[in-house]
Amino acid sequence: MRFNSKVIHGGQKPDKAYGAVMPPIYQTSTYAQASPGQHKGYEYSRSANPTRSALENALASIENGKFGLAFASGLAAMDAVIKLLGPGDEVISTNDLYGGSYRLFRQVFEKYGIKFHFTGMQDVANIAALINSNTKLIWVETPTNPMMNIIDLRAVSELARSNKLLMAVDNTFATPYLQQPLDLGADIVMHSATKYLGGHSDVVAGALIVKDEELANKLYFIQNASGAVCGPMDSFLVLRGIKTLHVRMQRHCENGERIAEYLLKHPKIEKVYWPGLKDHPNHNVASKQMKAFGGMISFVPKGSNYKDAIAIVEKLKIFTLAESLGGVESLAGHPASMTHASIPKKEREKSGVVDSLIRLSVGIEDVEDLISDLEQAIG
Ligand SMILES: *Cc1c(COP(=O)(O)O)cnc(C)c1O
Repeated sequence: MRFNSKVIHGGQKPDKAYGAVMPPIYQTSTYAQASPGQHKGYEYSRSANPTRSALENALASIENGKFGLAFASGLAAMDAVIKLLGPGDEVISTNDLYGGSYRLFRQVFEKYGIKFHFTGMQDVANIAALINSNTKLIWVETPTNPMMNIIDLRAVSELARSNKLLMAVDNTFATPYLQQPLDLGADIVMHSATKYLGGHSDVVAGALIVKDEELANKLYFIQNASGAVCGPMDSFLVLRGIKTLHVRMQRHCENGERIAEYLLKHPKIEKVYWPGLKDHPNHNVASKQMKAFGGMISFVPKGSNYKDAIAIVEKLKIFTLAESLGGVESLAGHPASMTHASIPKKEREKSGVVDSLIRLSVGIEDVEDLISDLEQAIG
Protein backbone atom coordinates (compact mmCIF):
# COMPACT_ATOMS: atom_id res chain seq x y z
CA MET A 1 0.00 0.00 0.00
CA ARG A 2 1.07 3.57 -0.67
CA PHE A 3 0.98 6.25 2.03
CA ASN A 4 -2.49 7.74 1.38
CA SER A 5 -4.02 4.27 1.52
CA LYS A 6 -2.02 3.34 4.60
CA VAL A 7 -3.30 6.27 6.67
CA ILE A 8 -6.83 4.95 6.08
CA HIS A 9 -6.35 1.17 6.04
CA GLY A 10 -2.91 0.43 7.50
CA GLY A 11 -3.11 -2.17 10.28
CA GLN A 12 -6.93 -1.85 10.37
CA LYS A 13 -9.61 -4.54 10.17
CA PRO A 14 -13.36 -4.25 10.80
CA ASP A 15 -14.15 -5.02 14.46
CA LYS A 16 -14.72 -8.72 15.13
CA ALA A 17 -17.97 -8.38 17.11
CA TYR A 18 -20.26 -6.54 14.64
CA GLY A 19 -18.02 -5.49 11.76
CA ALA A 20 -17.79 -1.87 12.95
CA VAL A 21 -15.58 -0.08 10.43
CA MET A 22 -14.06 2.17 13.09
CA PRO A 23 -12.89 0.33 16.22
CA PRO A 24 -15.26 0.84 19.14
CA ILE A 25 -14.02 2.87 22.10
CA TYR A 26 -13.39 -0.04 24.47
CA GLN A 27 -13.92 2.00 27.61
CA THR A 28 -13.05 -0.82 29.96
CA SER A 29 -10.30 -1.49 32.46
CA THR A 30 -10.57 -5.27 32.53
CA TYR A 31 -11.73 -8.33 30.54
CA ALA A 32 -13.59 -11.49 31.57
CA GLN A 33 -11.48 -14.66 31.74
CA ALA A 34 -12.94 -18.15 31.19
CA SER A 35 -10.39 -19.66 33.53
CA PRO A 36 -7.36 -17.94 35.16
CA GLY A 37 -5.09 -16.72 32.36
CA GLN A 38 -7.55 -17.82 29.65
CA HIS A 39 -8.70 -14.69 27.78
CA LYS A 40 -9.12 -13.26 24.29
CA GLY A 41 -5.82 -11.40 24.17
CA TYR A 42 -6.68 -8.65 26.63
CA GLU A 43 -6.57 -8.84 30.41
CA TYR A 44 -6.06 -5.33 31.78
CA SER A 45 -6.15 -2.02 29.87
CA ARG A 46 -2.79 -0.67 31.05
CA SER A 47 -1.17 -3.70 29.40
CA ALA A 48 -3.33 -3.55 26.26
CA ASN A 49 -6.69 -2.26 25.06
CA PRO A 50 -8.27 -3.03 21.66
CA THR A 51 -8.85 0.64 20.72
CA ARG A 52 -5.25 1.42 21.62
CA SER A 53 -4.06 -1.64 19.66
CA ALA A 54 -5.90 -0.34 16.57
CA LEU A 55 -4.08 2.99 16.90
CA GLU A 56 -0.74 1.29 17.56
CA ASN A 57 -1.11 -0.80 14.40
CA ALA A 58 -1.94 2.32 12.38
CA LEU A 59 1.10 4.13 13.80
CA ALA A 60 3.41 1.25 12.87
CA SER A 61 1.99 1.22 9.35
CA ILE A 62 2.25 4.94 8.53
CA GLU A 63 5.85 5.21 9.82
CA ASN A 64 6.95 2.04 7.98
CA GLY A 65 7.72 0.41 11.33
CA LYS A 66 6.72 -2.94 12.78
CA PHE A 67 5.60 -1.93 16.29
CA GLY A 68 3.66 1.08 17.55
CA LEU A 69 3.17 2.17 21.15
CA ALA A 70 0.64 4.83 22.16
CA PHE A 71 1.17 6.99 25.25
CA ALA A 72 -0.75 9.55 27.29
CA SER A 73 1.32 12.39 25.78
CA GLY A 74 4.37 13.05 23.63
CA LEU A 75 6.46 13.62 26.72
CA ALA A 76 5.27 10.32 28.22
CA ALA A 77 6.55 8.63 25.04
CA MET A 78 9.93 10.37 25.40
CA ASP A 79 10.05 9.48 29.08
CA ALA A 80 9.78 5.79 28.12
CA VAL A 81 12.72 6.11 25.70
CA ILE A 82 15.01 7.74 28.28
CA LYS A 83 14.10 4.98 30.75
CA LEU A 84 15.99 2.58 28.46
CA LEU A 85 19.10 4.26 29.89
CA GLY A 86 20.77 4.17 33.31
CA PRO A 87 23.08 6.28 35.48
CA GLY A 88 26.28 7.28 33.69
CA ASP A 89 24.74 7.04 30.22
CA GLU A 90 24.90 10.06 27.93
CA VAL A 91 22.54 11.48 25.34
CA ILE A 92 23.32 13.91 22.53
CA SER A 93 20.53 16.17 21.40
CA THR A 94 19.90 19.32 19.44
CA ASN A 95 20.23 22.79 20.96
CA ASP A 96 16.90 24.16 19.83
CA LEU A 97 14.91 21.24 21.10
CA TYR A 98 11.20 21.52 21.99
CA GLY A 99 11.09 23.29 25.39
CA GLY A 100 9.25 20.48 27.19
CA SER A 101 11.76 17.90 25.94
CA TYR A 102 14.62 20.04 27.24
CA ARG A 103 12.88 20.35 30.62
CA LEU A 104 12.31 16.57 30.81
CA PHE A 105 15.98 15.89 30.06
CA ARG A 106 17.50 18.52 32.33
CA GLN A 107 15.07 18.74 35.23
CA VAL A 108 13.83 15.16 35.52
CA PHE A 109 16.44 12.75 34.16
CA GLU A 110 19.68 14.53 35.04
CA LYS A 111 19.09 13.84 38.70
CA TYR A 112 19.09 10.11 37.94
CA GLY A 113 22.64 10.43 36.63
CA ILE A 114 21.94 10.62 32.89
CA LYS A 115 23.93 13.31 31.10
CA PHE A 116 22.56 15.37 28.19
CA HIS A 117 24.58 17.29 25.62
CA PHE A 118 23.02 19.86 23.30
CA THR A 119 24.58 20.94 20.02
CA GLY A 120 23.79 22.31 16.58
CA MET A 121 23.00 19.04 14.83
CA GLN A 122 22.77 20.66 11.38
CA ASP A 123 26.52 20.10 11.41
CA VAL A 124 27.00 16.35 11.98
CA ALA A 125 30.62 16.98 13.04
CA ASN A 126 29.27 18.68 16.18
CA ILE A 127 27.58 15.39 17.16
CA ALA A 128 30.66 13.28 16.40
CA ALA A 129 32.74 15.53 18.67
CA LEU A 130 30.54 14.69 21.67
CA ILE A 131 30.51 10.90 21.31
CA ASN A 132 32.37 9.01 24.03
CA SER A 133 32.21 5.54 25.58
CA ASN A 134 29.19 6.53 27.74
CA THR A 135 27.10 7.81 24.83
CA LYS A 136 24.01 5.66 24.28
CA LEU A 137 21.44 7.72 22.40
CA ILE A 138 21.22 10.46 19.80
CA TRP A 139 17.93 12.36 20.09
CA VAL A 140 17.04 14.27 16.94
CA GLU A 141 14.24 16.71 16.21
CA THR A 142 13.83 17.94 12.62
CA PRO A 143 12.58 20.45 11.62
CA THR A 144 13.54 21.97 14.96
CA ASN A 145 11.24 24.07 17.02
CA PRO A 146 10.98 27.01 16.56
CA MET A 147 14.02 27.71 14.34
CA MET A 148 13.12 25.20 11.59
CA ASN A 149 16.67 23.88 11.32
CA ILE A 150 16.92 20.69 9.31
CA ILE A 151 19.09 17.81 10.47
CA ASP A 152 20.37 15.29 7.95
CA LEU A 153 18.75 12.05 9.17
CA ARG A 154 20.73 9.80 6.85
CA ALA A 155 24.06 11.28 7.95
CA VAL A 156 23.16 11.10 11.66
CA SER A 157 21.96 7.50 11.34
CA GLU A 158 25.26 6.51 9.71
CA LEU A 159 27.12 8.09 12.61
CA ALA A 160 24.84 6.36 15.14
CA ARG A 161 25.25 3.01 13.43
CA SER A 162 29.04 3.19 13.21
CA ASN A 163 29.19 4.00 16.94
CA LYS A 164 26.49 1.47 17.93
CA LEU A 165 24.22 4.17 19.34
CA LEU A 166 20.47 4.29 19.37
CA MET A 167 18.95 7.05 17.29
CA ALA A 168 15.52 8.49 18.07
CA VAL A 169 13.72 11.10 15.96
CA ASP A 170 10.95 13.38 17.16
CA ASN A 171 8.86 13.42 13.96
CA THR A 172 6.07 15.64 15.35
CA PHE A 173 6.66 18.59 13.01
CA ALA A 174 7.18 16.69 9.77
CA THR A 175 4.82 13.71 10.27
CA PRO A 176 5.33 10.56 8.16
CA TYR A 177 3.59 12.40 5.30
CA LEU A 178 6.75 14.49 4.88
CA GLN A 179 9.52 12.21 6.13
CA GLN A 180 9.93 8.65 7.37
CA PRO A 181 12.94 8.47 9.70
CA LEU A 182 12.92 4.66 10.09
CA ASP A 183 13.56 4.37 6.33
CA LEU A 184 16.53 6.72 6.74
CA GLY A 185 18.11 4.57 9.45
CA ALA A 186 16.59 5.78 12.75
CA ASP A 187 15.75 3.19 15.43
CA ILE A 188 12.86 5.00 17.13
CA VAL A 189 10.32 7.52 15.87
CA MET A 190 8.50 9.59 18.46
CA HIS A 191 5.41 11.77 18.06
CA SER A 192 3.45 14.22 20.03
CA ALA A 193 0.21 12.90 18.51
CA THR A 194 -1.38 15.97 20.11
CA LYS A 195 -0.22 17.87 17.02
CA TYR A 196 -0.60 16.82 13.36
CA LEU A 197 -1.51 13.16 13.90
CA GLY A 198 -4.54 14.08 16.03
CA GLY A 199 -4.84 17.22 13.94
CA HIS A 200 -7.91 18.79 15.56
CA SER A 201 -6.57 20.22 18.85
CA ASP A 202 -8.86 17.98 20.83
CA VAL A 203 -6.52 15.39 22.35
CA VAL A 204 -3.16 15.02 24.11
CA ALA A 205 -1.32 11.81 23.14
CA GLY A 206 2.08 10.44 22.20
CA ALA A 207 3.60 7.63 20.16
CA LEU A 208 6.71 5.56 19.58
CA ILE A 209 7.32 3.45 16.48
CA VAL A 210 10.18 0.97 15.98
CA LYS A 211 11.20 -1.83 13.63
CA ASP A 212 13.29 -3.98 15.93
CA GLU A 213 11.39 -6.52 18.03
CA GLU A 214 13.83 -6.60 20.95
CA LEU A 215 13.69 -2.81 21.24
CA ALA A 216 9.89 -2.91 20.97
CA ASN A 217 9.74 -5.41 23.83
CA LYS A 218 11.92 -3.24 26.05
CA LEU A 219 9.76 -0.19 25.34
CA TYR A 220 6.57 -2.18 25.84
CA PHE A 221 7.89 -3.36 29.21
CA ILE A 222 8.47 0.28 30.25
CA GLN A 223 5.09 1.40 28.88
CA ASN A 224 3.31 -1.25 30.93
CA ALA A 225 5.51 -0.92 34.01
CA SER A 226 5.40 2.90 34.15
CA GLY A 227 1.81 3.09 32.93
CA ALA A 228 1.55 6.35 30.94
CA VAL A 229 -0.70 4.73 28.32
CA CYS A 230 -3.06 6.38 25.83
CA GLY A 231 -6.67 5.95 26.95
CA PRO A 232 -9.32 4.37 24.68
CA MET A 233 -11.16 7.63 23.88
CA ASP A 234 -7.90 9.41 23.08
CA SER A 235 -6.71 6.47 20.98
CA PHE A 236 -9.94 6.69 18.99
CA LEU A 237 -9.49 10.43 18.38
CA VAL A 238 -5.89 10.06 17.20
CA LEU A 239 -6.86 7.18 14.92
CA ARG A 240 -9.63 9.30 13.41
CA GLY A 241 -7.17 12.16 12.93
CA ILE A 242 -4.67 9.92 11.14
CA LYS A 243 -7.28 9.03 8.49
CA THR A 244 -7.10 12.57 7.06
CA LEU A 245 -3.41 13.22 7.74
CA HIS A 246 -2.45 13.27 4.05
CA VAL A 247 -5.11 15.75 2.91
CA ARG A 248 -4.54 18.03 5.87
CA MET A 249 -0.76 17.98 5.43
CA GLN A 250 -1.05 18.77 1.75
CA ARG A 251 -3.04 21.92 2.57
CA HIS A 252 -0.79 22.86 5.52
CA CYS A 253 2.16 22.74 3.10
CA GLU A 254 0.42 24.78 0.38
CA ASN A 255 -0.73 27.46 2.84
CA GLY A 256 2.68 27.41 4.53
CA GLU A 257 4.41 28.13 1.23
CA ARG A 258 2.11 31.07 0.39
CA ILE A 259 2.59 32.61 3.84
CA ALA A 260 6.36 32.11 3.85
CA GLU A 261 6.54 33.90 0.49
CA TYR A 262 4.27 36.70 1.71
CA LEU A 263 6.42 37.27 4.82
CA LEU A 264 9.64 37.09 2.80
CA LYS A 265 8.50 40.00 0.60
CA HIS A 266 7.09 42.06 3.49
CA PRO A 267 9.14 45.25 4.07
CA LYS A 268 8.59 45.07 7.85
CA ILE A 269 9.86 41.52 8.23
CA GLU A 270 13.52 40.94 8.95
CA LYS A 271 13.80 37.14 8.86
CA VAL A 272 11.67 34.19 7.82
CA TYR A 273 12.48 30.63 8.88
CA TRP A 274 10.85 28.00 6.66
CA PRO A 275 12.80 25.06 5.17
CA GLY A 276 11.18 25.48 1.74
CA LEU A 277 12.88 28.83 1.14
CA LYS A 278 15.88 28.66 -1.21
CA ASP A 279 18.01 30.70 1.19
CA HIS A 280 17.23 28.47 4.18
CA PRO A 281 20.67 27.21 5.29
CA ASN A 282 19.57 23.54 5.19
CA HIS A 283 17.24 23.76 2.18
CA ASN A 284 19.17 21.08 0.27
CA VAL A 285 18.93 18.55 3.07
CA ALA A 286 15.23 19.38 3.49
CA SER A 287 14.64 18.81 -0.24
CA LYS A 288 16.43 15.47 -0.02
CA GLN A 289 14.64 14.01 3.01
CA MET A 290 11.22 15.74 3.01
CA LYS A 291 8.41 15.45 0.48
CA ALA A 292 7.38 19.09 1.06
CA PHE A 293 8.12 21.69 3.74
CA GLY A 294 5.21 21.83 6.16
CA GLY A 295 3.14 24.57 7.72
CA MET A 296 5.40 25.67 10.56
CA ILE A 297 7.00 29.09 10.03
CA SER A 298 8.89 31.42 12.35
CA PHE A 299 9.69 35.07 11.65
CA VAL A 300 11.23 38.16 13.19
CA PRO A 301 9.71 41.60 12.55
CA LYS A 302 12.25 44.36 11.72
CA GLY A 303 13.65 46.39 14.63
CA SER A 304 11.30 44.77 17.08
CA ASN A 305 11.57 43.79 20.73
CA TYR A 306 9.67 41.56 23.16
CA LYS A 307 6.73 44.01 23.46
CA ASP A 308 6.39 44.60 19.68
CA ALA A 309 6.19 40.86 19.03
CA ILE A 310 3.56 40.46 21.72
CA ALA A 311 1.57 43.38 20.23
CA ILE A 312 1.52 41.60 16.84
CA VAL A 313 0.34 38.25 18.19
CA GLU A 314 -2.34 40.00 20.26
CA LYS A 315 -3.71 41.75 17.16
CA LEU A 316 -4.18 38.55 15.17
CA LYS A 317 -7.83 37.56 14.77
CA ILE A 318 -7.93 34.35 12.73
CA PHE A 319 -4.62 33.04 14.06
CA THR A 320 -5.34 32.13 17.68
CA LEU A 321 -2.67 32.98 20.22
CA ALA A 322 -2.06 29.60 21.84
CA GLU A 323 0.48 26.94 22.73
CA SER A 324 0.59 23.88 20.50
CA LEU A 325 0.49 23.40 16.73
CA GLY A 326 -0.58 21.05 14.00
CA GLY A 327 -4.36 21.48 14.23
CA VAL A 328 -6.68 22.48 11.40
CA GLU A 329 -6.87 26.02 12.81
CA SER A 330 -4.00 28.48 12.50
CA LEU A 331 -2.16 29.30 15.71
CA ALA A 332 0.45 31.90 16.57
CA GLY A 333 2.89 31.75 19.43
CA HIS A 334 5.65 33.77 21.06
CA PRO A 335 8.33 31.17 21.91
CA ALA A 336 10.31 33.39 24.31
CA SER A 337 7.34 33.78 26.67
CA MET A 338 5.45 30.58 25.84
CA THR A 339 6.87 27.28 24.56
CA HIS A 340 10.51 28.16 25.29
CA ALA A 341 10.09 30.12 28.53
CA SER A 342 11.65 27.24 30.49
CA ILE A 343 14.93 27.61 28.55
CA PRO A 344 17.25 30.28 30.02
CA LYS A 345 17.39 33.46 27.84
CA LYS A 346 21.13 33.05 27.14
CA GLU A 347 20.67 29.44 26.02
CA ARG A 348 17.64 30.41 23.93
CA GLU A 349 19.32 33.27 22.11
CA LYS A 350 22.35 31.14 21.21
CA SER A 351 20.08 29.13 18.93
CA GLY A 352 18.21 32.14 17.54
CA VAL A 353 15.12 32.18 19.76
CA VAL A 354 15.24 35.94 20.23
CA ASP A 355 12.62 37.94 22.18
CA SER A 356 10.86 39.12 19.02
CA LEU A 357 10.57 35.72 17.28
CA ILE A 358 6.99 34.74 16.34
CA ARG A 359 6.00 31.19 15.41
CA LEU A 360 3.05 30.28 13.20
CA SER A 361 1.32 26.96 12.85
CA VAL A 362 -0.43 27.56 9.55
CA GLY A 363 -3.81 25.85 9.45
CA ILE A 364 -5.99 24.80 6.55
CA GLU A 365 -8.25 27.85 6.28
CA ASP A 366 -8.41 29.96 3.08
CA VAL A 367 -4.90 31.30 2.77
CA GLU A 368 -6.14 34.75 1.62
CA ASP A 369 -7.87 35.17 4.99
CA LEU A 370 -4.70 34.18 6.82
CA ILE A 371 -2.61 36.65 4.82
CA SER A 372 -5.11 39.51 5.46
CA ASP A 373 -4.96 38.70 9.15
CA LEU A 374 -1.15 38.89 9.19
CA GLU A 375 -1.32 42.11 7.13
CA GLN A 376 -3.53 43.91 9.65
CA ALA A 377 -1.47 42.69 12.62
CA ILE A 378 1.96 43.52 11.18
CA GLY A 379 0.67 46.86 9.90
C1 LIG B 1 4.29 19.16 21.73
C2 LIG B 1 5.60 18.55 21.43
C3 LIG B 1 6.15 17.58 22.29
C4 LIG B 1 5.49 17.17 23.57
O1 LIG B 1 4.31 16.48 23.35
P1 LIG B 1 3.04 16.51 24.33
O2 LIG B 1 2.02 15.73 23.62
O3 LIG B 1 2.68 17.94 24.57
O4 LIG B 1 3.49 15.86 25.61
C5 LIG B 1 7.37 17.04 21.93
N1 LIG B 1 8.02 17.42 20.80
C6 LIG B 1 7.52 18.34 19.97
C7 LIG B 1 8.27 18.70 18.73
C8 LIG B 1 6.30 18.94 20.26
O5 LIG B 1 5.82 19.88 19.42
